[in-house]
Amino acid sequence: MRLLQDVQPHEIYHLGGQSSVQTSFQQPVYTAEASGQSALRFIEELALAAPQARLFHASSSEVFGRNAYGTVSEETDFHPASPYGVAKLFAHWSVINFREAQGLHASNGIMFNHESPLRGMDFVTRKITATLAQIACGGQQILVLGNLDNARDWGFAGDYVEAMWAMLQQEDGDDFVIASGETHTVRQFVELSAAAMGLDIVFEGEGLECKGVERKTGRQLVGVSADFYRPSEPDPMIGNSDKARAKLGWQPRVSFEQLVTMMAESDLQRARDGQVWY
Ligand code: GDP
Repeated sequence: MRLLQDVQPHEIYHLGGQSSVQTSFQQPVYTAEASGQSALRFIEELALAAPQARLFHASSSEVFGRNAYGTVSEETDFHPASPYGVAKLFAHWSVINFREAQGLHASNGIMFNHESPLRGMDFVTRKITATLAQIACGGQQILVLGNLDNARDWGFAGDYVEAMWAMLQQEDGDDFVIASGETHTVRQFVELSAAAMGLDIVFEGEGLECKGVERKTGRQLVGVSADFYRPSEPDPMIGNSDKARAKLGWQPRVSFEQLVTMMAESDLQRARDGQVWY
């Protein structure tokens, strides 16, 4: 609060929290505190110490969860399917409440998955590109994943940050879905990453029995484990970002294929440079 009083920021981007859906099933209370209640604490302090500041809050597609078969927009009802989604929904409504009750310039970006070469290893995209890069450079490991048929609407984080900024240049705070408008499966992400690294993987079997093997050697490169399945998953959903496109003039510039190639090439370079991950 003292920092807010001293700095009197013009714009604040609140991206903090416990951001892994998977971890939220093991640590629901911590997630509620870190991703839900902490946002409310912050907004309350902001309202007292720097009420003229413009606030962006990173809400999440996880707020839709079970309600979301098909295309979802700002008008779709919420029904989160994870402790993370529940925590984010609390923060989301706190932002709206302070906007309506206290007149804050506060916006929610309902952010669909956004990735980049800087993505954490807990997320499936970076786990795939980092592990396949090790394999492509002669490593002996196998990439072990959960459900390969799960789908996400994945975009490039750089594009999504431009949308965050654009929200704070509006005259008033508002809520916007930020999404690519396409979904792809985890399996497709693996296939495209592998191809970008010169690995030719074919999949055999279904579900937990599924295996990805290198076509020419028959060596297993990808396996599936129930350890990475989740107790519940959101319905497969596509984000409709028409409102952001119309009001903010926003649109993503990086396609799914370009995103996967960017991450694959970056991790291949890191592996060639001998960088190690944990
Ligand atoms: P999330 O959408 O924020 O949960 O992003 P993640 O990257 O963690 O997960 C995206 C999807 O990939 C989910 O449907 C996961 O169930 C699925 N998935 C499959 N295998 C894995 C895995 O090994 N790790 C993670 N994190 N997700 C996996």
